[in-house]
Amino acid sequence: MVRFVSLSSGSNGNCYYFSDGTVAFLIDVGIGARTIKKRLAELNIDFDSISFILVTHDHVDHIKSLGLFTERFHKPVYATRTLHGALSRHFCTRGKMTGCVRYLDENFENDIMGVCVTPFEVPHDATQTVGYHIVIGGEKITVVTDIGSPTDAAVRYASMADHLIVEANYDVDMLVGGPYPMNLKMRIMSENGHLSNEQTCSLVRRSISPTTRNLFLCHLSAHNNTPQAAFSAVKETLENLHSQASLRCLPRTQTSELFFLEH
Ligand SMILES: [Zn+2]
Ligand SMILES: [Zn+2]
Repeated sequence: MVRFVSLSSGSNGNCYYFSDGTVAFLIDVGIGARTIKKRLAELNIDFDSISFILVTHDHVDHIKSLGLFTERFHKPVYATRTLHGALSRHFCTRGKMTGCVRYLDENFENDIMGVCVTPFEVPHDATQTVGYHIVIGGEKITVVTDIGSPTDAAVRYASMADHLIVEANYDVDMLVGGPYPMNLKMRIMSENGHLSNEQTCSLVRRSISPTTRNLFLCHLSAHNNTPQAAFSAVKETLENLHSQASLRCLPRTQTSELFFLEH
């Protein structure tokens, strides 16, 4: 059984916590260490249990506090070689990762303290962006956030998961009719932008299996989506597939409930 909590999800900051009771790790550090500590404490989770960090990409909402966090707590930071190169130049992390840099091989099962971590590249407009397929405590988890289109690789790794965390960033009509400037709308909708609810449904349709237990929608836009719109779109897809998977939207600015992942 694995404990999972989303400490923040969206352009305001991303940070996810996972633990099997022996090893614990974060994916992305887009919010401050003090907030992480406080939010974990509210769930009776010991901050010191965090063993390492995984990074998805070099956008500020994912690495805003990574540099300060690493400087202060000296947790090993695992990322691909390309991404570490970007982190060594980024103002959030430059000069702050000394002694904590650990490299991951893409499309390869990397063993980190007994956790099997496979990063795979996804299309997005950062230096490099990866999704993760993770096996921890016997549970298979795939995390795909900040991805412009549902690629075959993303579908392949998503279809291996008992528990899938996938972006549902925007509702097309809300984005098109919304307040964003045209160039930003185009960026979000591009092949290297974010997933619309429809694209998330497409990924789900191609990857859900009878063994999928949990589906979490993450990185919802505050302006261009609502939890209701994302939920009902994906719920309809699950119903059409006769899937029993439980579906939830992760809150943007608040801590989610503490989830117990088991298959
Ligand atoms: Zn993001
Ligand atoms: Zn991004």
